[in-house]
Amino acid sequence: MSEKQIKITLPDGTVKEYPKGVTGIDVAGSISEGLARNVLAAKVNGEVWDATRPVDRDATLQLLTWNDKEGKSTFWHSSAHLMAEALESLFPGVKFGIGPAIETGFYYDVDFGDQEFDPLKDIPRLENKMLELAREKNQYKREEIDKKSAIKYFTEKGDEYKIELLRDLEDGSITFYHQGNFTDLCRGPHIPNTGFIKAAKILNIAGAYWRGDEKRKQLTRLYGVTFPKQKELTEYLELLEEARKRDHRKLGKELELFTFSEKVGMGLPLWLPKGTMLRERLVDFLKKAQLKAGYEGVITPHIGNKQLYITSGHYEKYGKDSFQPIKVPDENDEFLLKPMNCPHHCEIYKARPRSYKELPLRLAEFGTVYRYEQSGELHGLTRVRGFTQDDAHIFCRHDQVKDEFKKVIDLVLYVFNTLGFENFTAQISLRDPENKSKYIGEDKNWEIAEKAIIEAADEKGLKTVTVLGEAAFYGPKLDFMVKDALNRSWQLGTIQVDYNLPERFELEYTGSDNQKHRPVMIHRAPFGSLERFVAILIEHCAGEFPLWLSPEQFIILPISEKFSSFSEDLLKYLEENNFTGSVDNRDEKIGRKIRDAEIKKVPFMFIVGEKEQESNTVSVRKHKEGDIGSFDRKGLLGFMNSETEKSMNL
Ligand SMILES: [Zn+2]
Ligand SMILES: [Zn+2]
Repeated sequence: MSEKQIKITLPDGTVKEYPKGVTGIDVAGSISEGLARNVLAAKVNGEVWDATRPVDRDATLQLLTWNDKEGKSTFWHSSAHLMAEALESLFPGVKFGIGPAIETGFYYDVDFGDQEFDPLKDIPRLENKMLELAREKNQYKREEIDKKSAIKYFTEKGDEYKIELLRDLEDGSITFYHQGNFTDLCRGPHIPNTGFIKAAKILNIAGAYWRGDEKRKQLTRLYGVTFPKQKELTEYLELLEEARKRDHRKLGKELELFTFSEKVGMGLPLWLPKGTMLRERLVDFLKKAQLKAGYEGVITPHIGNKQLYITSGHYEKYGKDSFQPIKVPDENDEFLLKPMNCPHHCEIYKARPRSYKELPLRLAEFGTVYRYEQSGELHGLTRVRGFTQDDAHIFCRHDQVKDEFKKVIDLVLYVFNTLGFENFTAQISLRDPENKSKYIGEDKNWEIAEKAIIEAADEKGLKTVTVLGEAAFYGPKLDFMVKDALNRSWQLGTIQVDYNLPERFELEYTGSDNQKHRPVMIHRAPFGSLERFVAILIEHCAGEFPLWLSPEQFIILPISEKFSSFSEDLLKYLEENNFTGSVDNRDEKIGRKIRDAEIKKVPFMFIVGEKEQESNTVSVRKHKEGDIGSFDRKGLLGFMNSETEKSMNL
C-alpha cells in the first residue's frame, strides 16, 4: 500500500482504500451520488466530524444523514449558526452566548444590547432572513486558530461572552467556523453548507442567565427548528399542535386527575379522586397479572436508616444531591427518604436463610420513592420528586435468568397490549467489550446473563436493538421503547440484571450441593413509575381512557328534576356492579348536559326521561358516536360488561 493511501472501515465491515485526505463526502460519492448529496456529517473513529474534513490516517467511518440522530443534531447546531448570521444582519452589534442543538431543534442565547426584539414583527423577518442566507449555500469552513488571535477577533467584535468562553479553552484546540459573513467560536461539527436548510421556524423565546448563573446578565434565548424539506416542518408543526392539545398537564387539570401545590412542594403530585381511581385501576390490573405470574407482594416504609443506603451504595452515589438525612433526637441515627426500593427488598430476602428450592423469589411492591430533581427539571407528572414505582425484584439462580427474563417480557407485553401501546422496540444494553474492568461481577456470569437476555428477547419475537457499552456497571439490561399515538418515543418498562446489590448485601442461598451461593437480582418495572406512565397514557389516548380504566365510566343525564330519584337508583345499581359514574342533577337543558359530558370525555351517557322511567329503561349515548339505543337494566349491565372487556384490547 502506498503511503498516500489510507484504509477506511465502513460500518458493515468493508475496508476500502482511499487517498490520504479523503473526506466523508468523497467516501459517500464513491458509494452513490445520492448519498453524497445527503450526507450531513461523518463519524470518524467514533467522533462526529464535518463531512468536508480530511481524514489522514486509517479510520472507521460512518456517514451521517438526516435519518441519524447525530446527523440531525449536526443539522440543528449548524442552523443555530445560520440563525446567528441572520440576527447579526438584522441587528448589527448583537452578541452571542452559546448555541447548541437540543433534542428537537436548537437555541442561541443572544444579547440584543439596546435593540429590541419584537417577536410579532421580528420572528417572521428572522425566519425569512435565515432562508435567504440558506439559499446562498454558504459553506461552513473550519479554521484552527491560536488563542491570542481568537481573543483579538472577539475583542474587536466586542463580544465579551465569546471572550469569556475562550479564556477557558486551551491553546491549540481552538477552532473558528465561518459561513457567509459570520464567524463563530465553535468546536463543530457542521453540515457542509447552508443550502441543506430548507425550512426554518422560531418556536419560542425565553430568558436565560449567562452560564446559568442568576447573578449574571439575562440573555434572550431563541429556540428554533429547521428541516431539509418544507413538508417536514409543516408536519412537525401539526404534531406540536396536537401534542399541545394532549399535554397531560392541561388534560390532568381539565379532567381533574391531579394537581400540584407550592405549599405542599414543587414536584410532589397530589392525586385527585378521579386520578386516584385511574391509578388504582392500573395498580389492580398489574397486581392481578403479577399474582398469576408468581409474584408475592411486600410493603416497606418510605424511609430507611442511612446505614442501609451506605450498604447499598446509594448514599455515596446520590446522597449529596438528593434529599438530606432526617434527624432524630439520637444524634447518631439518621434516616433517608428512600430513593429506591431495592435495599429494603434485599433485607426481606435476608430475613431468613434461603434454599435453592425457594428460587426464584419474586418480591413486588408499589413503592413510593423520593429523588430531588432540580426545579428546572420538574415537568408535570413526567419529572417529579416523589413517585411510585411498580417495582419488583426477582432473586434467582444464574441458570434461571433466561426463563425469568422471558416471564417478565410476557408480563410487559401483556401490559402494553392491554393499554393499546402496539408500537415498541426493545433495547438490549450490554457491556463495552473493550472496557470490561468498568463492570462489577464475574466475566462468566456476564456472559451467561447477556446471552440469556438476547435469547429471551429473540424467543419472544421482540424487535430489538443492541447497544454495546450501555449496560449499567452492575449488569446488562433490556428497556422497552414505546411509540405513542403521536409517534413520540418513550422509554417504558425496564428489566435489569444486578450483580452488585447481592454482593453488597451478602445475599446467599443454599444450593442442592449444600453449599452457599450468591443469587442474581433482577429489577423490573413494566410501567416505570405510575406518575410517568399515567402522563404518557393521558397523552397517548388524549384523555379518552379505555372504558376499563376510565375514572368516570358513565354519567346519568335526567331530562328534568322529576327523574332524579330514578337516576339515583340507577346510579346505585351500577355502582353495586363495580362501575363508577355520577348523575348530572344540574338544572340545565339535556342538550347542554350532553355537550358537557362530551367535553369531559365520559365514555357513556345514560339519558332518563318520561319514556325511560315508565318502561324502566335508559337511552344510551356513546362519547363521539351518539345514540346507540335503549336498554333495560340487565341489558345495560351486560352491555357495559362487554364494552369493558372490549376496551381491554386483548
Ligand atoms: Zn458550531
Ligand atoms: Zn430495584
